[in-house]
Amino acid sequence: MAEPALPDIDPGPAGLAVSLRGVTKVYDSGVTALGPLDLDVQRGEFVSLLGPSGCGKSTALRLIAGLSAPTSGTVGVSHRAGDERGRRSIGFVFQEPTLMPWARVRENVRLPLKLARDPVAEADARVSEALAQVGLAEFAGAFPRELSGGMKMRVSLARALVTDPDLLLMDEPFAALDEITRFRLNNDLLALWRSLRKTVIFVTHSVFESVYLSQRVIVMTSRPGRIGAEFRIDAPEPRGEDFRTSPRYASQCRQVSNALAPSYAGRPGA
Ligand code: ADP
Ligand code: MG
Repeated sequence: MAEPALPDIDPGPAGLAVSLRGVTKVYDSGVTALGPLDLDVQRGEFVSLLGPSGCGKSTALRLIAGLSAPTSGTVGVSHRAGDERGRRSIGFVFQEPTLMPWARVRENVRLPLKLARDPVAEADARVSEALAQVGLAEFAGAFPRELSGGMKMRVSLARALVTDPDLLLMDEPFAALDEITRFRLNNDLLALWRSLRKTVIFVTHSVFESVYLSQRVIVMTSRPGRIGAEFRIDAPEPRGEDFRTSPRYASQCRQVSNALAPSYAGRPGA
């Protein structure tokens, strides 16, 4: 997926998956969207970027994915150990499922393998595995129009998992879903993260979602987005509905919410 030349980082003893140093992004329009931003993410960590809309969250994810180049600073992403081609292995989940409406679920999930020209038999096995991971094994032959919003998002997640990426970048993936569906997907994502132990960078504007899911919440300021505050969320594993209704969760949400409030200052209706 990486197109602009980004430095590979040596994960080293610290086991870094991503390392941003002094990263800024100024768009051609003259808008300074981001930074300067310094951020280290450990391998296997689940980190949320939390901030108001327009603060540069998507910009940050696109820079990490290598879909756009920083104006200044460096974006380091550790490449897959042992991969002779030194490929970075990144899965990206967007807010919209962005499925091909004319193609069945299995073909949608297969797309990244097809683009990488992986052998067909191997690809078949990977597609089945990814669909099983998101609980959609029985819907391989369905078309997107036959699925609910939550199921479409599961397909999108399976498509991101099918290459077995080390790093999963998720850009407000559940924002358009109703609350119950969102809670279910939150729980399923946590279960997947626990079993697959991938590094996850999860973008959201929901305090509740960020605290529920993450080991670390990065609160971003309004544009240009910088790190305003950082919280480590300590909670017993595995997290579930008990955590969601616990006083500890409520108090952590309150702290994060207080840190986020200045990012909304001066906004109409804020
Ligand atoms: P967020 O994801 O937090 O809502 P974005 O990263 O999408 O924020 O955008 C940050 C700022 O950069 C916004 O002001 C947005 O209008 C601007 N922006 C985003 N993408 C582009 C682009 N391709 N060209 C010009 N400006 C952009
Ligand atoms: Mg965005």
